[in-house]
Formats: sequence, structure tokens, C-alpha cells
Amino acid sequence: MELAAFAERARAIEAESADTDVVESVTDLLRVSSQDLPVVARYVQGRVFPAHDSTKLDIGPALCYEAIAKAAGRNVTADDVEERVADVGDVGEVAASCDFGGQRGLAAFGGGGGAGAEAGEGGTGGLTVAEVDAELRALAATDGSGSRDTKRDILFGLFNRTGDDEARYLARLVLSEMRIGVGDGAVRDAIADAFDVPVDAVERALQVTNDHGEVAVVARDEGLGGLESLGLDVGRPVGAMLAQAGTVTDALDDWERVAVETKFDGARVQVHYDGEETTLFSRNMEDVTDPLPEVVEFVEDTLDAPAILDGEVVAVADDGSPLPFQEVLRRFRRKHDVAKAREDVTVEFRAFDCLHAAGDDMLDEPLTRRHDRLADALGDAGARALSELTVSGDSDEIAAIEADALDADHEGIMLKNPESAYTPGRRGKQWLKRKPDVETLDLVVTGAEWGEGRRAELLGTFEISAATDDGFAALGKVATGITDEELEALTALLEPHVLAEDGADVEIDPTVVFEVGYEEIQASPTYGAGYALRFPRFLGVRDDIDPGDADSLERVERLADRQ
Ligand code: AMP
Repeated sequence: MELAAFAERARAIEAESADTDVVESVTDLLRVSSQDLPVVARYVQGRVFPAHDSTKLDIGPALCYEAIAKAAGRNVTADDVEERVADVGDVGEVAASCDFGGQRGLAAFGGGGGAGAEAGEGGTGGLTVAEVDAELRALAATDGSGSRDTKRDILFGLFNRTGDDEARYLARLVLSEMRIGVGDGAVRDAIADAFDVPVDAVERALQVTNDHGEVAVVARDEGLGGLESLGLDVGRPVGAMLAQAGTVTDALDDWERVAVETKFDGARVQVHYDGEETTLFSRNMEDVTDPLPEVVEFVEDTLDAPAILDGEVVAVADDGSPLPFQEVLRRFRRKHDVAKAREDVTVEFRAFDCLHAAGDDMLDEPLTRRHDRLADALGDAGARALSELTVSGDSDEIAAIEADALDADHEGIMLKNPESAYTPGRRGKQWLKRKPDVETLDLVVTGAEWGEGRRAELLGTFEISAATDDGFAALGKVATGITDEELEALTALLEPHVLAEDGADVEIDPTVVFEVGYEEIQASPTYGAGYALRFPRFLGVRDDIDPGDADSLERVERLADRQ
């Protein structure tokens, strides 16, 4: 396909306003792309390389303006181009308005198009999409001293063979500013329409390959069966599954049981181990292997079969406790002095998912099976990297896990559907990062319950109440977030204020105020106040305030209204 033909279609697509028309036009374009289909499927959404490929053109605006200026002729400087781009706001518009093609003698100099590199009169030099692809790949491969000039010359050679619209889209493509309204979803739908395959199968194939070009070709040449046979490749990254903010009550409402895990405060890393070599990818699928040698060493010492693992790289202190996220950043994308940086900040891998193990793709397996497989893959040697996963239907137990995670200086907890599959690149509802509490309440302790078993001597569950005009109204009971030591202290503090006992239930004179966290205030007939706190947690004793200064029922009502 000639670049001119591609550019004409791109212009038509850009002029469409309805999404369905965009998809229809992209569908037509894919159908006529024949052997250029993989390239066209990427270019139309402004990608030079597949999403999984971290190769970069590394062309900044300055270099592009120089190439444009050079192709535009003697009277145009890079500064002129820059000024016009600043005025017009679109490098494509500026490139399209230049009169390229005058640099005949030089045309063959950069553009490796050989004989076809002859520039046409103010118009096209017969440039094809395949030639552009070959040139841009050559450009990306240049490095070392002089590479900047080589890049500019290759780009110049290309611009010098373009007419208006070709120049417009070439300039936008190389600066990653295509912006013709074609996103991933439009290309997905167009592939499905163009080659008559189900859109779900295309979506799935895109998730595992992250290559619109490859998926388009497989859809066209092999149909549904071909798409279904596409699997993960060790060494080729997939999009990280992402989380939404959510609450324990959301999780317990949606799923009977919740898989609870520490939320590590680090940087996401996908580990690919092919049996010999390890590659590490960031959340954006960049290769971050070189900056993290100890993770590579850990993986190679630990795994004995190919695997793709998902997890977080955290910075740790000498005693193994987590350090803030900023410390990880000092290591993460570091290109120079890695050995020195390694001396300053130690990082470790924490694994929470397994996408592939020893030849088996695990994406469709439920989370708990994937986690079991992860534990197997890491074995005893790697056990310290394994996230602890607890499946629970009990909000008190979940609160206790959260309290432990926070005590250990972690960021919080993740709540996951234990049955859920791994959906690459999607921010679905199957993984929730627990939202921090909204506003805490200071509530008076009006009752308690004696514990059971080894805690029979301790008060355990505390009734908490808000102040009303004529006393206190109960809002619920809090039993979680309290350590054994705190229980002892609270029992000593409250016992002198016990008014009456009935079995395990104790009535307490309102004298002590708790600071209480919660996720939500719900209207509820269960307690005297007419409201109940969901997921209430003990945060501490407010010994600096009197019961009369505790939060009023009126404030609780206002907070409930605001939710
Ligand atoms: P956020 O970055 O605040 O959107 O939170 C989601 C991120 O938390 C994920 O993308 C991971 O990088 C990170 N994370 C930490 N621990 C876990 C875990 N156990 N499971 C999943 N993601 C985790």
C-alpha cells in the first residue's frame, strides 16, 4: 500500500465524527491492506511498534523539526518549523504545508528507498507503507555516536518523498501524535468486522499478544481457530491486571468470600523466565531488567521451569521491612551506576500472581489456583517472595489482616474475587484496592462483651455510641483493629466503669471515647441510633476528650447524607 493511499484514508477517518463510522472506515482500510495489514493495523492508531515491544524511535520534536526543515528547503530552519507548530498546534499541519520534494539530489541520501526515492513534483515520491516501516525500524536500531544525525537523515529522506497528506501523517506518526480518533477499541472492532470473527475472540487475542498487527493477520488468515490458539509467550509482556478502589463491604456484597492480600507499596513488575533468561517488565511493558539485577538473581536461583509471574518490586530496609515507594523509584528505571544504586537501596520481589507456569497458560484459572501454582513455582526457596493470600468471608478477619498489614508498614490491603480470571490490561471489578476510611468518628463506649477462651478475662467487643441531646445512641460494635496488648489496657481502663453485667454482656458508664474508622454509615434498625457503621475499626482511645465532646448523632446523620 502506498503511503499516499494510507494518508488519504487516515484523513477520511479523521473527518468522521461517529464512532461507528470510524470503525467502518478502519474496517475497509484493514480489508484492503493485503500484505501491509500488520503495519497498517498499528499505524492507524499511531503505533510504530506493537504495544508489547519497548523499541522506541526516540525522535523528539527538535529532531523531527530539523528533518522537516531540511526537506522543506534552504529557506526553512528548524526554528521556523517550531514556531509554526507552536502557532498551529499540529506538527502534521505544518509538515503538510511544507513544499517537500525539492531536495532531489539528497533524496536518496537518507530514505533507503533506493531508486524509488526520487521526489515527485510537490507530491508523492511513491513511498509505500512497507518502506516507511523498514526505514523507521532502521532508524530505531541506530545508536551510539552519530545516531542523532543518522536518525535525522533517515527522517529527512522520508519527508523528502512525501506530499501534503503523507507528510501530515508521517510527522504525526513519528511524534506519537496521530490523533485521528482511532483507539484500541476501534481497531479491535474493525478487525472483528473486517475478517468476520467474534469481537471477544479478538479482544482476548489482543490481551495475550498485545500486537494489533499480529492479531489482524491471524484473524484474516486463520479465523477464529487461529485467534483461539494464540497464547502467552514467555518474554513478551502482557498488560497488568489493574484494580479499582473499593470497600470490604462492596467485596463481601459481590462475592461470598474475599481473597485478601497485602498491598505492597512498590512498583509493578512482570517476571518472564524462559528457563534460562529473565526479563522484567514494568506496568507499561517497558523492559526494566537491567536496573533490577537482584530480582533477576532471585528468579534464576528460585524458579526451575519457565514462568510468567506478576508482582511488585519493593525497597526494603536491612531488617526486611518495607521502605516507601520513592526508594524503589531510585532503582526502577536507572540506566547508569546500577551497582552503586544497589548498594544504596535494596529491592526485593513480592509475587502475587502466576500467568504461566511450565508450559501452562493460567489466565483463565481462578485466582486461588493461580496462587497455588505460584506457591509451587516459588517453592521453599522463594517462599519469602510469596504474597500471603487469605480467603475469608468475615469482615473482622479482614480488618485484622488490614491492621497487621498497616502495622508492618505496608500500604493497605487488596481485595480480590477468589474465582476471578486474570484479565490483562483491564481495570475491572475483580480486584479492589481498599479505599482509605472517609472520616473517623469519636464515639463513646457504652457497652462491651467478655471474650471467649483464652480471652475470657478480657473485654473484647465494644458497643460504641454517638452523643444525643439526652444521652447516647448506639451505632454498632467494634471488635477489630485491637491487639492483645490493647485489649488488656482497654479492659483495665473500662472495668471500673462497668454498671451491670448480663452473661457476657456488660453495660458501661459512658466515660471512655474511641476513635473509630469505618467504610460507610448505613441506615439500620439494629442499633438505637437508627444508623450502623459498616466495617468499624478501633483506631485508638481519645483520652484527650470527654464523652460530652464525642461526635453527635447529628454529625453522624450529616455524614450519612453526604455519602
Ligand atoms: P494503585 O497503584 O493505587 O492503583 O493500586 C494498584 C496497584 O497496587 C497495582 O497495580 C499493583 O502495582 C499494586 N499492588 C500492590 N500489592 C498488590 C497485590 N497484592 N495485588 C495486586 N496489586 C498490588
